[in-house]
Amino acid sequence: MSNLKTLDHAAAAEIFIKDEARTDWHDDTLWFVRQKRDKAVHGIAEWEQLREWASEIKNHTLSNLDNYLIAFEKQAEANGIKIHWAADALEHNQLMHKILKDNNISRIVKSKSMLTEECHLNDYLKKQGIEVVDTDLGERIVQLRDEAPSHIVLPAIHLKKQDVSETFHEHLHTEEGNNDPQYLTEAARQHLRDHFIQSELAITGVNFAIAETGGFVVCTNEGNADMGAHTAKIHVACMGIEKIIPKTEHLGVFLRLLARSATGQPITTYSSHFQKPRSGQEMHIIIVDNGRTKQLGRADFRNSLKCIRCAACFNTCPVYRRSGGHSYHTAVAGPIGSILNPNLDMKANADLPFASTLCGSCSNVCPVKIDIHEQLWKWRQVIVEEGYVKPEKKIAMKGMAWLFSNPKVYRWAGKSGRWFLRTMPFLGNNKLNVWYKQREMPEAPKQSFHDWYQQNKNK
Ligand code: SF4
Repeated sequence: MSNLKTLDHAAAAEIFIKDEARTDWHDDTLWFVRQKRDKAVHGIAEWEQLREWASEIKNHTLSNLDNYLIAFEKQAEANGIKIHWAADALEHNQLMHKILKDNNISRIVKSKSMLTEECHLNDYLKKQGIEVVDTDLGERIVQLRDEAPSHIVLPAIHLKKQDVSETFHEHLHTEEGNNDPQYLTEAARQHLRDHFIQSELAITGVNFAIAETGGFVVCTNEGNADMGAHTAKIHVACMGIEKIIPKTEHLGVFLRLLARSATGQPITTYSSHFQKPRSGQEMHIIIVDNGRTKQLGRADFRNSLKCIRCAACFNTCPVYRRSGGHSYHTAVAGPIGSILNPNLDMKANADLPFASTLCGSCSNVCPVKIDIHEQLWKWRQVIVEEGYVKPEKKIAMKGMAWLFSNPKVYRWAGKSGRWFLRTMPFLGNNKLNVWYKQREMPEAPKQSFHDWYQQNKNK
């Protein structure tokens, strides 16, 4: 992963698509998940109403975020939970480290937290000599391979069962060449069981935090958040400030939308509700900003904070499906990651909003109605304005803008372009043309649609 950070999306995607068969398989697998989502969605008549409600609840919450966060803190503390506030990733990691040091903890399990990925918690703690064991099966697989997750719901979706078999053979000493998913899952289960039993502290994410009750919900399909939190003497939950919802009654809306959008399931296998520490246990919540208030202040991008991390936009995106998650070189990849990450570091992530066809499929499937493709388009404008694209691209874009706003010149350029492409294709298809390098051009037609229409409109 780290070596991909120096590459932009297109260059990193080139590495992924070199293996054509894997690219096709990745594309097909995610499309299969998208189809499962469609079937589940068509199974409930009130789907659009649910989306509308979810969007409105999030709108309302984001407009009153300070009040709801304070109400949550008050209620959670009354329940016996210790609340910590982190302005950024470093502070989040330092707070976690302090909890570990104060309690002399060395055995840690972690489940379902993209926020800790965003904060690079594992790397931070590793540098302090502390190892965290990821317990989601997919997360554990990529952790053993020293890779980052490539998808927020299916972290090892870029890997085939043969890859998993090789990884387990190397690290868990399973039989070489045994690709049987049941055998491999059982091996992982036994391996993780030891870690669960021995763990002293469990880290989980938070899917929804409820201001009214001070409780929170973690959704998993493997039950590993529960296994960790129920055996460890300390449970630390890490949540972004946008995870708050006002009341318990709002949960039903989001839980129905989340699982269907993510995997096509009617409900996530485990929706675990945590309200207070059990007797003898300590419970902490670290509430993290890390750029979220900045995004809240950007009117055009505020809506991105409604995201419930279902990954439906990943599964439908034709660019994500064929370029793989690692090509986005960030913890949250895909269409929503391409909106969130330029906010965190515009220079390092200037390539991401361009990794889209702007087809709008992401916005169509988003359960909380985020205008994803429009935000990607807006980021492009901001990024160009701020000077984070190559000068030649900026000049080309200015030229195109001028061309598109002058119809006569546009038509003349189209006519000449078609003639050149038909008679001297090498003028476009050459090494100097970086735009052409990643594309296949159809044969240029003799006539534009405009000319054809003018000729035929009165027939
Ligand atoms: S942006 Fe929408 S579709 Fe994408 S992960 Fe977030 S909630 Fe799901």
